Amino acid sequence: MRIILMGPPGAGKGTQAKRLVDQFGVVHLSSGDIFRAEKASGSELGKTLAQYMDAGKLVPDDVVVSVMASAVTKNSSGPGLLLDGFPRTVPQAESLDKQLAAAGKPLDGVMVIAASDQLIVDRITGRRSCPKCGAVYHVTNIPPKKAGICDVCGTALVHRTDDTEATVRQRLNAYKQQTEPVIAYYRTRPNVRIIEVDGNRATDEVTKALAAGMQSLAGR
Ligand code: AMP
Repeated sequence: MRIILMGPPGAGKGTQAKRLVDQFGVVHLSSGDIFRAEKASGSELGKTLAQYMDAGKLVPDDVVVSVMASAVTKNSSGPGLLLDGFPRTVPQAESLDKQLAAAGKPLDGVMVIAASDQLIVDRITGRRSCPKCGAVYHVTNIPPKKAGICDVCGTALVHRTDDTEATVRQRLNAYKQQTEPVIAYYRTRPNVRIIEVDGNRATDEVTKALAAGMQSLAGR
């Protein structure tokens, strides 16, 4: 099963993807997580990525495709793939489709989490995450037991450098201009189902709706 999880930044893709991985045993591939790890390594590629990420801009397609193609290759023969944050532009989607078709493992569906702009700004500016295990919290909605410390592994939580209000607005613009057309692109593909889920709800309710979507994609 190969599925893309889409939605504006802060719609809850990362949190939801982690829950779906536990439930369905698929591999979660988050371009943002892969890029942040590269950035943290201090490599030349990481420095290039940081220039775009810290400004809330999309990384150029050729860079994204080269990094993500190898991550997809490594994982495409497993039980399933849940892509999060990639593809984010139509050229990226075209390149992914070619790669999956060549591997004989085409895409099954796209699940879109919709959320209002205000909700997104509130969620993102309050978001804190664990740099070690990737657990995600929110200062008021999902606070850790001990302020600033990860419940899972005890590491100090961080506020991502691209989680400020100005950057969020920039990222929302990028989503509307460059990523929404990807949904339109997949609507034209006869074998790809699009499932839309209302993300303006409690996390558990969104998980239930997404899990139902995964079940129906798995059983098709
Ligand atoms: P995310 O954690 O998915 O919000 O990604 C964080 C940042 O990484 C984005 O704001 C972009 O700068 C960059 N990024 C992640 N995935 C992509 C992608 N598929 N295309 C372009 N830039 C990306």
